[in-house]
Amino acid sequence: MSLDLMTASESVAEFDSYSINDSRSEESQSAVRSKQAAQLQQPVNKPAIEAAVRTILEAVGEDAGRDGLLDTPARVARMYEEMFSGLHLDPARHLETTFPEDYDEIVLVRDIPFTSMCEHHLLPFTGVAHVGYLPNGRVVGLSKLARVVEEVAQRPQVQERMTQTVADMLEEKLGTKGAAVVIESEHSCMALRGVRKSGTLTVTSSLRGIFRTSQASRTEILSLINRR
Ligand SMILES: [Zn+2]
Repeated sequence: MSLDLMTASESVAEFDSYSINDSRSEESQSAVRSKQAAQLQQPVNKPAIEAAVRTILEAVGEDAGRDGLLDTPARVARMYEEMFSGLHLDPARHLETTFPEDYDEIVLVRDIPFTSMCEHHLLPFTGVAHVGYLPNGRVVGLSKLARVVEEVAQRPQVQERMTQTVADMLEEKLGTKGAAVVIESEHSCMALRGVRKSGTLTVTSSLRGIFRTSQASRTEILSLINRR
């Protein structure tokens, strides 16, 4: 299931609980619903980010009007627009075009670099993703796997969910016999603040289908992923 769907259903759920005591007609409620759905599709609201950044600067005791900071809100807004651009895209669309192929062995793209934003601290985490699958009669262009990782990363994320999301998409869109996603990354929220441990690597994995049920298949893909 895509994150877009999760976000959409959560916001509908919030709306439902809010509307219990609401006297508006069915019709206007559905109008609000479709307006909310439309907002989810809207591009990033840069003026709102700029205002928020100015507020943060002043809240920490800075003078948001001084020379060095004048363009900072606009710069941060453009940066967030770029780093969160995946929120308005459906990464699974890259897996729509497949090719029939009798190849019945593992396909693995290793060391796909990415940068994502930890949703708990809004600090980046950076690393590589390894994406593999066992085809079920159809394969996808190899670069598409990198595209999926890139767009799933360009949202407020936690590494665990990012790993599962990519595996889900492979399974659902390609109908794979097995899917394996391993992500290794360094979280700047751990390196720069809190426990301040730099150089630590967080590894998450999501194994599906035959990679979960067959010890031999799991060993094979993990040894391919870990080969250096
Ligand atoms: Zn964090």
